[in-house]
Amino acid sequence: MIINREICVGCGRCHPYCPTRAIHFENLKSVVDQDACYECGCCLRVEVCPVDAIEEYPHIYEYPRALRKYFSDPNATHALTEIQGRGTEESKTNDATNRCGPDEVGIAIEVGRPTIGMDLENIQKITRARARAGINEIEPNNPICSMIRDQTTGDLKPELMGERVLSAIIEIQVKRDRLRHVLRTIKKVARKIDSVFCLDVITQLEPGLKVPQEVLDVIESEELSWRPNAKINMGLGRAWE
Ligand code: SF4
Ligand code: SF4
Repeated sequence: MIINREICVGCGRCHPYCPTRAIHFENLKSVVDQDACYECGCCLRVEVCPVDAIEEYPHIYEYPRALRKYFSDPNATHALTEIQGRGTEESKTNDATNRCGPDEVGIAIEVGRPTIGMDLENIQKITRARARAGINEIEPNNPICSMIRDQTTGDLKPELMGERVLSAIIEIQVKRDRLRHVLRTIKKVARKIDSVFCLDVITQLEPGLKVPQEVLDVIESEELSWRPNAKINMGLGRAWE
């Protein structure tokens, strides 16, 4: 985002809306620190500027800067997934494609949050740990997948180092008997992550709407706390049969 200094009257109304404090005063006018800006669009979307001095950065859709917007602006449509959001359409639901089978679990690693974003180097720490542990079941349509230069090492494309986003999701899908291995791998790398993150474990429910006990047993025996969460598409993603 940029602020047109010729127009800005220095009222400061836009400052509180920036989750990264990228907007600051310089000689009584506001400016955006381009390194700190995640291109989340919040300052523009709230329409608080009395003189319309806030404008989109002219090269916002140029790679790799465009990734800031795709991962940080909830209104942006990701060029790869063609949907809004950081993951695939079914990263937290399963009723449209049924892609997570009864003997499988989906694992979504959500890194960063609004106000606590992160450098993409943190994603690389996880993709490298995943590769070292032989966990190759990363969701191919997940945006992170196309950012990996070498699947055997988990290295991201070098031009992405230094890019910052508010948050990103790595999606993995494994057989249930591999869940413990994945959780241990993530726990090991967790200490090196310079941001917040949480884990989603996605599974089909059993009759009676019960979470499979074998999945809970693994989570609890790894000393992780869990809380049940349901998210469904109301069947709107699938045609009537
Ligand atoms: S686009 Fe977002 S991060 Fe950038 S200046 Fe505006 S509010 Fe701050
Ligand atoms: S709201 Fe507009 S006029 Fe006020 S400081 Fe921000 S950019 Fe400048």
